[in-house]
Amino acid sequence: MVRSALKISIYLFMFLSFSSYAHGEPRRFVEGEIIVKLKGQQAGVSGQSFMGKAQSKKGLKLKNAFSRMGVYHFQVKPGQEVDEAINELKDDPEVEYAEPNYIYGKATVGTVQQTFSSSEVSAMSNSSSSTYLATDANIQVQSSWGVVSHNGVPVVAVIDTGLDLNHSVFSTTGAIWQNSGEVPGNGIDDDHNGYIDDVNGWNFVSNTSSMYDDDGHGTHVSGIILGVTQDIYNPPYPAATIKIMPLKFLDGDGFGKTSDAIKAIYYAVNNGATVLNNSWGGPSYSSALHEAITYAYNSGVTFVAAAGNSGTNNDSAPMYPSSYNVPNIISVAATLDSDVLASFSNYGKNTVHLASPGVYILSTLPGAGYGSMSGTSMATPFVAGLAALMKSEKPDMLGYQVKQIIMNTTDLVVDGGGHPLLNNKVSSEGRMNVYSAVQSAKVSSVDASQPSYSFSNQDRGLASSIAASGCGLVSKMVKNGRGGPGGGSPAPESWGIFLILTVFALPLIIYNALRKKNPAQRRVHERYKIESEVKVKLGDRELVASVSSISQGGVQINTDALLDQGGIVSMVIRSPDGQEQIAVEGRVVWSESQKAYGVQFAETSQTIRERISSWTKALAKVS
Ligand code: CA
Repeated sequence: MVRSALKISIYLFMFLSFSSYAHGEPRRFVEGEIIVKLKGQQAGVSGQSFMGKAQSKKGLKLKNAFSRMGVYHFQVKPGQEVDEAINELKDDPEVEYAEPNYIYGKATVGTVQQTFSSSEVSAMSNSSSSTYLATDANIQVQSSWGVVSHNGVPVVAVIDTGLDLNHSVFSTTGAIWQNSGEVPGNGIDDDHNGYIDDVNGWNFVSNTSSMYDDDGHGTHVSGIILGVTQDIYNPPYPAATIKIMPLKFLDGDGFGKTSDAIKAIYYAVNNGATVLNNSWGGPSYSSALHEAITYAYNSGVTFVAAAGNSGTNNDSAPMYPSSYNVPNIISVAATLDSDVLASFSNYGKNTVHLASPGVYILSTLPGAGYGSMSGTSMATPFVAGLAALMKSEKPDMLGYQVKQIIMNTTDLVVDGGGHPLLNNKVSSEGRMNVYSAVQSAKVSSVDASQPSYSFSNQDRGLASSIAASGCGLVSKMVKNGRGGPGGGSPAPESWGIFLILTVFALPLIIYNALRKKNPAQRRVHERYKIESEVKVKLGDRELVASVSSISQGGVQINTDALLDQGGIVSMVIRSPDGQEQIAVEGRVVWSESQKAYGVQFAETSQTIRERISSWTKALAKVS
């Protein structure tokens, strides 16, 4: 009683920090950026003509392409408003949808009040404390551990603010996912997944392999997930039976872009994660995000998402991604340890599935310590940890069945008078129970298939979705290239050196290469400024990028996707007027900040050289 009263009184003093999450706030998006989906099965093909006019007529600059999905991420022309660009595209017969690059935020309330050392935590875990441990009795975590057979090692992707890889709870247990196909630090994308040296996941904020947590949220969430599967409070910690794949897309303030969230989801699914933890969200509906989760569903993956912290009903005021109706999404509300719904927690009889502890949860923080945090952010990883235990037992169980079992095994909690606490609040009317779900998974046969689901964005009006204009915070996020310890943008001086090296080295590289190949041809080719589109194929990856300069010897292409230096690529380059295209092979000879690449042509035919001559006749030379 005293403990609950203390919690409630402290809670009253907590300030609410879920700014991107508060109901009724303007929706937020990245200024100057849009996401466009092209129509048709063969989006890559129809994309050719669209891309030509997008760049020449509409002034759109391609930032990234998910060409298999027909989804493209553009920078709009300087000075143009996002809604203006979207309105221009809305009526284009080739466009299925165009939307802002929305911003989402972490789903915590308040801040960490106090941090504890490992030994303090160990003492706390053995006495009654004012925080909730991942192993507290009501959800029956510890009793489940004796039940699970470890038939597989499930990978849980934590799509969040990053992870402190050096925290002993992770570093001494082997809990961090290792990409076995990648050689650390050799600067090569060994496994050809598009990411160089992605040994332990990826940082989509800095677009590097450097992993850190400049917020603390992701490390806390990861600790809860691991804490459902094993002891994280009393060293020496046992060896982990699951793997955490940290995918950083939220920055140090806890905000992230849809374009990065999508990349993280595709990365997680394509690199073997079977449970995705999403302790973030916002009120903006994004078709592209909806589609990415549909892709996860069709891959059999479980997608656990925070219901939100506005204290509102998601049935009437949806929060995304938790409110998409994709059947693998488990939307999680937060309860106190008394099983009462937390006052900040969103709910929804139809769209929030179950509740889980989410107030004063004690878990890991960056820098070796622990602390307690509250929010549906903390309730979500309990469910992700449970899903991981179930996948340990039944590695082939599909996301849909995992969700059904978790929902069917909740405890229908009641208050002292026997009145149900979660009736009309969540669709299962219960709070998760780890033991019951694991036990049920153990005795269930694995369903070979799950209901079919396909993406549809039917009644989502674009005009209403971008009614609100951008805000200061968004500009700050976009303008200040954020870099945490060991990551982020290079310092201005190193940029300068890089540029000088590039400018001087490129002609030399091309000169040397050509001299070897053709001793008679010693002249370095003139380069011309060009605005065009190139389709690049590397192995079975294909992407669409923009070309900013061209010569008889090569091109400069711009893309956020990573290309291997030295890698051989096939390219289809479009003429500036979009009327012609040439197909050439080339080799990536240099890169600038992994955004611009110099590709040197392999042997080119007389016809191709003539085409390039005719294209460049009217173009300005690169000085
Ligand atoms: Ca790789």
